[in-house]
Amino acid sequence: MKKKLIAGNWKMNGGLAANQALLTALLDGLKAQPPVCGVAVAVPAAYLAQVQSLVAGSAIALAAQDVSSQESGAFTGEISAGMLRDFGTRYALVGHSERRQYHGETDELVAAKAQRALAAGITPIVCVGETLAEREAGQTEAVVKRQLAAVIHLNGHCISEIVVAYEPVWAIGTGRTATPAQAQEVHAVLRAQLAAATEHAQRIPLLYGGSMNAANAAQLLAENDIDGGLVGGASLKAADFLQIIAAAG
Ligand code: PEP
Repeated sequence: MKKKLIAGNWKMNGGLAANQALLTALLDGLKAQPPVCGVAVAVPAAYLAQVQSLVAGSAIALAAQDVSSQESGAFTGEISAGMLRDFGTRYALVGHSERRQYHGETDELVAAKAQRALAAGITPIVCVGETLAEREAGQTEAVVKRQLAAVIHLNGHCISEIVVAYEPVWAIGTGRTATPAQAQEVHAVLRAQLAAATEHAQRIPLLYGGSMNAANAAQLLAENDIDGGLVGGASLKAADFLQIIAAAG
């Protein structure tokens, strides 16, 4: 069976003391019950160094929440893939719906970010997902396929090295989760799209994200094409995140 991946997205939360407390609790929990799945935490860039040293040698991989589409130079405020790599960053979220919505990120920009990450040896976790209006208009499939197509098109042969996260925008931070059947339906669409682009489609992890929690994780993760979770709110509570990790076993 393919190893699942559970990635936490801390968003703009945390602080030196809170991060230490959360990671200490997580590391203790994972020591007591070693995970069968891969585990990652996407932390605010300001805390990469702190978290890198706290998770060193553990089962927890370091992830960033974004990466620049540029390699270096006069791009004030941006953080390059090479800089993330300096801190041992293994994954970078790209195209999270909050970046698309609040920062105007386009499919093309997201694809360029994914390419920069790949070039630096960082695995991009490419987020796709429809808004509620798009779902209600029957556009879910077209939207996620368009978002993924940009990445497939730009990255050509590297496509088998990415992770995809299906995150319906209406389910993020709302407490309203896609049903396992709704999520599986979209994951199957994404898998078929990947299969048309690479013979390695089966090994590309397809994560579900959107109000995943300790109570609903097992059912979502039992679906055929759901290879893990991208977890926001519930990743900030050690006990909840540990339960989700256990559900992926
Ligand atoms: C996310 O931020 O990617 C996310 C899925 O958030 P939440 O789990 O809080 O819905």
